[in-house]
Amino acid sequence: MKLNIESLSNKEIKSKDFDLSFDLSSFDFSGVEYQLLSPVHLSGRVSKAGQNFLMKANCNFTFKGSCSRCLCDVEVLVDYDIDAYLMREEYDESEFEDVDVFKIKSYEIDLMEIVESTLCFNVPQRILCSEDCRGICSGCGVNLNTDSCKCEDSIEEVDIDPRFAKLKELLK
Ligand SMILES: [Zn+2]
Ligand SMILES: [Zn+2]
Repeated sequence: MKLNIESLSNKEIKSKDFDLSFDLSSFDFSGVEYQLLSPVHLSGRVSKAGQNFLMKANCNFTFKGSCSRCLCDVEVLVDYDIDAYLMREEYDESEFEDVDVFKIKSYEIDLMEIVESTLCFNVPQRILCSEDCRGICSGCGVNLNTDSCKCEDSIEEVDIDPRFAKLKELLK
């Protein structure tokens, strides 16, 4: 997943546009393996900034997540913008508080490295299949979005039927 910007060594050329898709089945990010449902798509522009370069890009892809309430599969779209300086010169990190900055040693830019280090604030921490997902019943384990809770029903039956009430006594 490399982008070659050697053409920018030409004085006449001020910027390079790119539009690239990378077909990865999955990638690891902070110890979690993400199953990708789409290629990782990166498009944008690298322009000269003195001896260095400025990259403005959009990154998007979808991965398979699971709802944190009902655990069903959810397609999660990640779509965010990258503003990053690509530095050939030495630099002081404290001067780049609001922008990402990467040291580059050649005209080959490792885009996956840039994606991985800009991802952390852009992957949703909490995935829900819908805002009002009702989750899983902790008693009977049914998915409350599609089934009705079975444990509530059986508690009612026990209360109605005296034989079961007696059984319940014995089981205590
Ligand atoms: Zn859910
Ligand atoms: Zn239940």
